[in-house]
Amino acid sequence: MKKKEKTYGAAVSVRGDCLYCPLPLSIDTYFNCITDCHHCYSRRLNRTWGMDLRPADPDQVRRKLENGLKNKNPKSSLAWALKHKKTLRLGNRTDPYQKAEKKRKITRQVMRHLIDLDWEFVVQTKFLDNMMRDKDLIFEAADKDLITVMPVISPGMEKDWEILERKRTPTIETRLEIIKELIELEIPLGVNGEPFIPGFHTAKDFRQTIQRLADVGVESYNIYNLHLNDHVAKRLHSIGLPIERIWNGPRTPAENSAADSNADLIRSRGSISRDCVVCKLPSNKSRPQPHA
Ligand code: SF4
Repeated sequence: MKKKEKTYGAAVSVRGDCLYCPLPLSIDTYFNCITDCHHCYSRRLNRTWGMDLRPADPDQVRRKLENGLKNKNPKSSLAWALKHKKTLRLGNRTDPYQKAEKKRKITRQVMRHLIDLDWEFVVQTKFLDNMMRDKDLIFEAADKDLITVMPVISPGMEKDWEILERKRTPTIETRLEIIKELIELEIPLGVNGEPFIPGFHTAKDFRQTIQRLADVGVESYNIYNLHLNDHVAKRLHSIGLPIERIWNGPRTPAENSAADSNADLIRSRGSISRDCVVCKLPSNKSRPQPHA
């Protein structure tokens, strides 16, 4: 007899830094992200608790949200956030539109519930091409002012796609094209640039990324430093990234340009997170700002 697939019981969660994080309440539609990027600090959870995909149960997620709204005496941070119907981030520890979503459609079902419940949400994903399969729901949510799309493009762009994301995600060009399309359709959008890796990314990378985002009409780019846990440190070290320089950060222009040549070398072969900097890009256009 085929073993029953486990579902992800803790799909709705709140971040530990909820007192100062503007978007701490989230839903993960899958427990694992099979994309398995080299820099992903959340994959340490899977190393400890299991590598199975473990999709969420969309109806169970809905019940959790409905019960949260009815809770007369919320005692935990999570209960309080649900009671006050705080904006949800769809995709915190895992990408809601990773490849599995094409077949499983768990995110689609959860999004349907969020629209029915009139619950504001932010979709955070690198897989914009898969997300566009749910264009009908995106438009419906946008008509009700419920959705903000948060595409993820880290500051190394193609370098990161090759080295960190292992070419398992849509190309940067694909993401930029879809971002342009979404902006033209007036879907509220802000780009997430997580992570900035000191000693690997350079000021030149950052400038180029901002320019390319501005060229397609992006006005808001949030950037976060790398979450460097033991899992990430080992993995980055195994692909040849200079952990010591990442830990210390480059201090001189020479170290900065060493970061450039190190990345070139890796390409040719084959948690510090505390701060959040919001970078507003120059534009004359006015359009709705993202909630995050
Ligand atoms: S796509 Fe995002 S959540 Fe998935 S492994 Fe990569 S960084 Fe982690």
